Amino acid sequence: MFRRTVASMKERSFLHVIKLVSPFVAVVLLQAAMAIGSLEVLSSVRAYVAGEALWSRAQKNAVYDLDLYLHSGDRAFFEQYQDALAVPIGDKFARLALEREPEDLDAASRGFLQGGNHPDDVPGLIWLYRYFHDVSFMNAAIQHWVATDPMLLELTIFGEAIDTEMKQGPIRDEQRLRFLTSRLHELNSQFTERADRFSAVLGEGSRTIKVLLTLANLAAAGTLILLMVWRIRRLVQQREAFENALKAEKERLSWQATHDPMTGLANRRDFEVRLEHELGEVSRAPLALILLDLDQFKAVNDTCGHLAGDRLLCDVARLLQKDCRPHDHVARLGGDEFGIILPHCTPYDGVDIAERLRRSFELFAFSWDDKSFAVTASIGLACISDATIGLEEALRQADAACYGAKQKGRNRVQVYHTSEAAQAGSRRRQVA
Ligand code: GH3
Ligand code: MG
Repeated sequence: MFRRTVASMKERSFLHVIKLVSPFVAVVLLQAAMAIGSLEVLSSVRAYVAGEALWSRAQKNAVYDLDLYLHSGDRAFFEQYQDALAVPIGDKFARLALEREPEDLDAASRGFLQGGNHPDDVPGLIWLYRYFHDVSFMNAAIQHWVATDPMLLELTIFGEAIDTEMKQGPIRDEQRLRFLTSRLHELNSQFTERADRFSAVLGEGSRTIKVLLTLANLAAAGTLILLMVWRIRRLVQQREAFENALKAEKERLSWQATHDPMTGLANRRDFEVRLEHELGEVSRAPLALILLDLDQFKAVNDTCGHLAGDRLLCDVARLLQKDCRPHDHVARLGGDEFGIILPHCTPYDGVDIAERLRRSFELFAFSWDDKSFAVTASIGLACISDATIGLEEALRQADAACYGAKQKGRNRVQVYHTSEAAQAGSRRRQVA
């Protein structure tokens, strides 16, 4: 059972980690995919630019070799012309294979290889043609490429015609020679114009792609950063909320340990801690200690019930806090018994405050269910100026005085003196 609980906790924390990192993993994978895609596109565009350079050089060589053949009659030039012409023909062959329905990828590959392209570039050339065919820059480049097809055909036929003519001997007719040469040069400039446009369009396209891919990569990086900031902020907020809850719970527990939950006053434990502390200060200033017990409190409980008694205890707590000085410590010690520590208080002031409290009680009338009760209290006052007096002795003196007040008829303030001690002693002996 325990093992199963541990296993399910591990499973939950693993799932939590997965949930936490999954958006980052998704963005990183997306960025990696975009980076790979960007490299693929740019490298394929570069392969087309390189292919075009080979194509142009071969086309120019073909024209040049044919021209040499025309003027020299040396058939080696015609063979060189044929070799050079095979390059643009190979590229054309590849393009037609890719235009076919269905595409003939093997034939396309062979065509590009014949066009002199590097074998590693061939898959990229095919990929870009297939998937970017309708993208504006590629489409425009293909249009320029297609426009060279009739020129290529003309150059081929032109070569065949010259070769046929040359087989019958060198051309002596100067005018015809000039005509053929000028047509050859015309063809060459038509080729050059299209090739230049092809390159320009591709260059422009590759620059646009570079800008777009850079922006896309920056956007992905920005998203990753925002995601990270958002996640970390959430984690920090969660941690703060947890710390605040922990702090609140600590404060609640500490309040519970030191307070009476019903009246909100300090409890006996806290009262004794404070009294101990204040007794340590007595050498600097005298201290007064009051123990106060309500008179005939049981009558309220018995007549109106405990709820009424509780309400009266809360009212008494408020009354005491109102009538004491801000730095006095008021506590409920238990039942209907309250304690007040009056630091920096002379006996004269102590009596004055105790008497003020007694009068406040007298003036306070407690009502419950149309019944009214006179509230009075017996107040014991111990005035302590001797620094050797400890907690127990101080409490004993105030308790003895309180007992004395009860004995003398209640609703009075009794200041501790030795006769109270004697009476309290005899009371305790009787109880025992
Ligand atoms: P005396 O004048 O001699 O002080 O008599 P008393 O009726 O005030 O009775 P005493 O002080 O001896 O006892 C206090 C009573 O208070 C005892 C108990 O029934 C009652 N009491 C103690 N705690 C509570 C409380 O939390 N709520 C209520 N309603 N009554 C309490
Ligand atoms: Mg009482």
